[in-house]
Amino acid sequence: MSFVQLPESVTTCRNLVGGEWLVPRDASLLDIHSPYTGGVIGRVPLTPAEGVAQAVEAARAAAPGWRATSLRERTTLMSRFRHLLESNLDRLSHLAASEAGKTVAEARAGLLKGIEVCDFALSLQNLDTGGGMEVSRGVSCEFRREPLGVVAGITPFNFPGMVPLWMFPIAVTVGNAFILKPSEKVPLTACAMGELMVEAGIPRGVFSVVHGGRETVEALVAHPDVRAVGFVGSSAVARRVYAEGSAQGKRVLALGGAKNHLIVVPDADEALTAQSVVDSFTGCAGQRCMAASVLLAVGDVQHIIEQVRERASRMEVGPGMGAIIDRASLTRLETAIAAAERAGARVLLDGRGKKPAGEKWAGGYWLGPTILDGVRPDMEAAQRELFGPVMSIVRVPTLSAALEVENASPYGNAASIFTTNGAVAQAVVEGARVGMVGVNVGVPVPREPFSFGGTGESKFGHGDITGASSLGFWTDLKKVTRKWTSRTDGSWMS
Ligand code: NAD
Repeated sequence: MSFVQLPESVTTCRNLVGGEWLVPRDASLLDIHSPYTGGVIGRVPLTPAEGVAQAVEAARAAAPGWRATSLRERTTLMSRFRHLLESNLDRLSHLAASEAGKTVAEARAGLLKGIEVCDFALSLQNLDTGGGMEVSRGVSCEFRREPLGVVAGITPFNFPGMVPLWMFPIAVTVGNAFILKPSEKVPLTACAMGELMVEAGIPRGVFSVVHGGRETVEALVAHPDVRAVGFVGSSAVARRVYAEGSAQGKRVLALGGAKNHLIVVPDADEALTAQSVVDSFTGCAGQRCMAASVLLAVGDVQHIIEQVRERASRMEVGPGMGAIIDRASLTRLETAIAAAERAGARVLLDGRGKKPAGEKWAGGYWLGPTILDGVRPDMEAAQRELFGPVMSIVRVPTLSAALEVENASPYGNAASIFTTNGAVAQAVVEGARVGMVGVNVGVPVPREPFSFGGTGESKFGHGDITGASSLGFWTDLKKVTRKWTSRTDGSWMS
């Protein structure tokens, strides 16, 4: 296992605007703490509206030239970026792990998923052949994709590499000028990817990085020249960004939080289920929008729950499991566990106060796997996204009761069923109210080109952020009707 190598020096991040790296004027600087140690590993500027306007202006100036560049040329450049990503995979994985608190293996897996999205974008030149047909004698209709111009992507802390890569390889390849606003908690990986875009030869202004928090996001979403906004983060902010952007006539796709249910029935394979459940709720220290959050235990599955508890209790808290992003999140999680206890839940496994050995990690933000049993569907622990390695067990008598609990959740990212019975699996595939369903899979992230996206309060807007439907989001479809005939009799519509 390769443990994280933290950056050796403290970097002050800069914005990438018009091909130049600069610290925006009048920006205050925020310290970036590594969740592993609590130590400062960088500083990030909080870009005010004026700095945002400067980036949008540079992108606006670059957009027509990039739009006029052929898809093949754009693809050639993005293919260089893809190769650079691959050759820098190790460095980027350690950087993403250092700032997000995830393990190096998970950071690497996220970047590899990003490379998969690049592959999808790069295949467009061969596979997205457009469409056309003769609709009447001598008359044909055709559609062509056209880029929107300046577009933006706003991303969360928990996947510093992968989530930006869900967006910009596709948006840039189809011809847009893209502005990335990464989470202010994890700006270092975004800068490193910006450097690789510059090294790949991206023309000035076609790819920008603008750092900041709420004020920066508000300025980007309000800017009249930003045509589309892709957002990934918590539901509360996703809802707001969607409402504000849509009210101004922008295209917005805003992915939000989650409360994912794993349904376990008595015939489930014991070892596979226990391992998948534990991997799902503890991976990335539970800071994944696809993490298991509620285990719906149908009937007598005590033998599986005991194995889940036993496996989880063997996990070592520390750099092999990942840390919680910051002190405030750790306190929030500990408070939520205590509240569940007071509401009547039994703490089957308690991760509070667990810390890895060694002085190096003493200042980090740690929480071990925590399992709450006897959680009722109306309790906060069953309803609210906690975003940590905490799993609530809700006991239900039947599969339909399990689906009732799942369906009542306002979120709708993912759900999984663990069973050896095909009919039971199918009932959940059809009955779960989510965008992504797993059968005997704890983290049912679809591979590309199957797209990524939930429903309900896990997604505001139409379509998905990756895969075929993302093309519709980042482009306009122009329809062309051509008549090349000298016939004058009747309407061509007839
Ligand atoms: P967050 O909502 O706090 O931040 C996301 C982005 O919004 C960041 O860039 C941040 O700077 C900005 N932001 C924060 N507060 C804002 C405000 N008041 N106004 C405008 N912008 C604001 O989310 P986070 O804590 O960084 O990430 C974790 C959340 O993201 C979890 O809820 C998780 O489920 C969700 N997430 C969802 C998906 C998905 O695909 N649905 C994927 C990853 C993460």
